[in-house]
Amino acid sequence: MSACAQFNFNQHQALIRVDFNVPIKDGIIGDDTRIRAALPTIRKVLADGGSVVLMSHWGRPIKDMEKKPELTKADFSLSRIIAHLSSLLGLEVLFAADCMGEDAQNKAANLQPGQVLLLENLRYYKEEEKGDPEFAQKLAKYGDVYINDAFGTAHRAHASTAIIAQYFSAAHRMFGMLMESEVSAAEKVLLQSEKPFTAIVGGAKVSDKIMIIENLLDKATDIIIGGGMAYTFFKAEGGHIGNSLCENDRLDLALDLLKKAADKGVNIHLPADSIIADRFAADANTSTSLNTTIPDGWMGLDIGTMACDTFHHVIKKSKTILWNGPMGVFEMEKFQHGTKTIAQAVVEATEHGAFSLVGGGDSVAAVNKFGMADKVSYVSTGGGAMLEFFEGKVLPGIAAIKG
Ligand code: AMP
Repeated sequence: MSACAQFNFNQHQALIRVDFNVPIKDGIIGDDTRIRAALPTIRKVLADGGSVVLMSHWGRPIKDMEKKPELTKADFSLSRIIAHLSSLLGLEVLFAADCMGEDAQNKAANLQPGQVLLLENLRYYKEEEKGDPEFAQKLAKYGDVYINDAFGTAHRAHASTAIIAQYFSAAHRMFGMLMESEVSAAEKVLLQSEKPFTAIVGGAKVSDKIMIIENLLDKATDIIIGGGMAYTFFKAEGGHIGNSLCENDRLDLALDLLKKAADKGVNIHLPADSIIADRFAADANTSTSLNTTIPDGWMGLDIGTMACDTFHHVIKKSKTILWNGPMGVFEMEKFQHGTKTIAQAVVEATEHGAFSLVGGGDSVAAVNKFGMADKVSYVSTGGGAMLEFFEGKVLPGIAAIKG
């Protein structure tokens, strides 16, 4: 594989897999982070004197149109992105209204250095998600260099994210700049972590995070467990957790994890106390409780002050920090304090030289909400992909480029 930053794209046509799967409502683009994240790679190719063909998916057109017959392809069209992308790049972006066929082939073949062509939604074709080699080979003809800059779909073995790479020589396939920074941040944490390495795992369910915790048992010195998933551990140990979230079929698993951690010498930190509520609502009545004695009718919706203090202390002395999942129902103001405190502790540790990576859906939303995204070392754009990376899985999008 080549390195995008070092490659000279002069007279080359780069076929770039981007992730333009941004929220669009009534034709208006909401959070455009994913589009902006792709700009450095596009600009690099253009600045060198190359041309760019962009391909992406948007939503799940085939599946959603099957479910809801009132939906049409137009509801999933990437044409809704052209104007915004054109204004961000400061040039007119051309569009092929079908990613297959003569029009796309002609437009790609006639593209001049400095021009950008966007192809219509790849997922109009079922071959994309199936990883169909013939479909991938047709796409491969649109450029002589393949760049994967779609970290958000790196965990999928789709035609445009993985299968396509085989039609380019090692020297002509590479990660884009976004993908490169995502992979190097993730590898820094997983493969070259400075100790103490604290992993903070939160969110709703133990079952969603089991694989990540198991994999981290071999890497981390400390694992903080917060959020809804913590209560399954307390129940497993014989605690009284009231109406708190609990996966009763995972009690043995929780005990097994605690035992494995003890055997491996990893410190597991569970929250001692909680902010409890009498119902799951923003205006619920609240109180505080130890997590072993939550009264019936009450549920823990955030970590309490004792937990905040302990977690803060552990995080502060860490040199490497990985954070996935909130400490409580941070979407509601009454239950955001724990997540905010942890975010502040991560920021403090970062200021003192720690490397901190926030990755995976809701914890990213949390640091954005608290305006702390630029105060941690790295915020990942790839929810599912980052999670699978930390579960220790090989991501097809990464493997295909590395060869
Ligand atoms: P996840 O996608 O698994 O990271 O879970 C994130 C979700 O977990 C967020 O929407 C939080 O509101 C929710 N969550 C966090 N803590 C709790 C809790 N104690 N009880 C119920 N839901 C929670």
